[in-house]
Amino acid sequence: MGRDFTSLIRIVVQAGWLFFVLVSLVGSLKGRVWTSTNGVKIEGEVFEVDEERVGLRMDGRDYFFLITRFIPADRLYLKEWKSHERCGVCSGKLGNNFKEAGEQKFHPPCFRCMVCQKTFVGGDGLGKDPWGGLVHLKHLKQAQTCGSCSRFFSQREADSRQFFQDGRVSCKVCLRDAVFDLEKLNQVRERVLPSLSRVGLVLPSNRPTKVYLVDRRFLDREAKRIKASGNLRGLTLTKYKITRGAHFSDASFEHRIYILKGLPYVECIAVLAHEYAHVWLNERFIESTPLEIEGFCNLISELCLAEDKSKISTLLRENMMKSENPVYGLGFRKMRAKLQSLGWRALLAEMKGKSKPPR
Ligand SMILES: [Zn+2]
Ligand SMILES: [Zn+2]
Ligand SMILES: [Zn+2]
Ligand SMILES: [Zn+2]
Repeated sequence: MGRDFTSLIRIVVQAGWLFFVLVSLVGSLKGRVWTSTNGVKIEGEVFEVDEERVGLRMDGRDYFFLITRFIPADRLYLKEWKSHERCGVCSGKLGNNFKEAGEQKFHPPCFRCMVCQKTFVGGDGLGKDPWGGLVHLKHLKQAQTCGSCSRFFSQREADSRQFFQDGRVSCKVCLRDAVFDLEKLNQVRERVLPSLSRVGLVLPSNRPTKVYLVDRRFLDREAKRIKASGNLRGLTLTKYKITRGAHFSDASFEHRIYILKGLPYVECIAVLAHEYAHVWLNERFIESTPLEIEGFCNLISELCLAEDKSKISTLLRENMMKSENPVYGLGFRKMRAKLQSLGWRALLAEMKGKSKPPR
């Protein structure tokens, strides 16, 4: 009896503890509630505020929103938030005791290396990722960098699924949003296609383009067959057949888009948009230099990325803008300048003018 009684107490104590854990979990999931001027409510914690935009962390993911989209009470809150100096790692308020590195300040306990866990001291070289991750330069080799968002993570705390067989490395946030199945791929497609048609890039609807998720080995093998190379994340293959009648010639197409499996959702948007742009060009037999073709396709990527509010989409766009690649980077900037002076309608017309159908 006595024993039963003690175990009952233990159960009650455990239940109480469990309840406490649940309450604190729910507490940590609940962020501040934000109301946009059209009445929509979202929940998230601020991690950054600048002149016009606010960074909100929602369910572990970071997003940027224009401050003007929120009601006056929220804007006031942001003004107050911004009036305090903030820690470069946790975004919490700083007191009188802080550490400084470059232009940023940190709480002393936050200012430490994620590999050795030691606090940085004067003279230490340190690396910083775009997400607030800090690591000793001498320990950079023991840290991993996400291939999609450049986030540092410690090898020790990583999960084996973060290391892909083909050598890619993914942080936990990107892995959680990775596209491994057709259901998620369809969500990506539904995000991309409306953005394309909005600027006049209409894809054939009677014979939808087939999209496949493939591994690196498959992608490299297909790329080799058409003599494409580089660190490819997607590929479009187009086959066509010309039927010549007495009065007309008609071309029928078969397009296949291959997308690398396991890209995070936002990167998948960028890659699929790029490949759809190839489909549009191929259907019209548009020929130009690789600089112009790839630059045009990247322009379509950027169009779709710009509609996504996540911080990773902002980083991917910044990378495109800064890319030193002589085809993808230079081509993108060239076509972007062209778009700015011509607008979409005239740019698409100019591209159509480069059509050279086989005779
Ligand atoms: Zn901190
Ligand atoms: Zn270290
Ligand atoms: Zn990542
Ligand atoms: Zn391409």
